[in-house]
Amino acid sequence: MTPFLLATDLDNTLVGDDAALEILNRKLTHHRQKYGSKIVYVTGRMLPVCRQLARVKNLLTPDALIVALGTEIYFSPQETTPNPEWSEILTHNWDRDEIFAITKNYTELQLQPESEQNFWKISYYLAEWEAEKILPRLKADLKDAGWEVNLVYLAGQDLEILPKNGDKGLAVRFLQQQWQIPPELTVTCGDCLQDITLLNGVEKGIIVGNAQLELRQWYQKNRNDSLYLAKEFCAGGILEGLEHFGFL
Ligand SMILES: [Mg+2]
Repeated sequence: MTPFLLATDLDNTLVGDDAALEILNRKLTHHRQKYGSKIVYVTGRMLPVCRQLARVKNLLTPDALIVALGTEIYFSPQETTPNPEWSEILTHNWDRDEIFAITKNYTELQLQPESEQNFWKISYYLAEWEAEKILPRLKADLKDAGWEVNLVYLAGQDLEILPKNGDKGLAVRFLQQQWQIPPELTVTCGDCLQDITLLNGVEKGIIVGNAQLELRQWYQKNRNDSLYLAKEFCAGGILEGLEHFGFL
């Protein structure tokens, strides 16, 4: 058995089936103690909400946390300042105030509460019927001003303006480098379109059995031996996938 890096989404991927989670936690705890495997939670949630979920659902203490859509990395849930090295990578070609000065002119964009914002994440609500005409204009305006940002429109309502490297998949790659764990010993898991950056181009990815239709459709178009679509739901699907890839 070799140590591996498990990077999993939380809502409806790791969390959602308490009984299966308990079994998976037991196996992961054993594996981590014996072989030094790493557990990473990757989520769009902000840190306080993530901590709350971890408490309620009795989650194992992770080796690292990637929160706020990949814009903050913590090596311990107790830390209050995100990893400075990752923060520096994000800050390249990013100035929140200057970017905000452009986006605030768009009356169609409604700023989300302060609790959803951080230095590397400007979050708005944007109605689906307006997105089609607004997004190309916004992209062009930002580009003309010299900003190369990552614009993510989620679930037909949330517009996330992130640094170019503000991406969950790139955050996992950063951790691979920190721990010197190669891609073939890294497994990522997700359940919805938001997790595509975690699953696209990886050597081992698990899509849980309860995955949303849009992610299943993406899987059908991109299916290959690196991606495993589980039959079981949530933590049960992760367990099934880890067995499929020979990690457990
Ligand atoms: Mg999810």
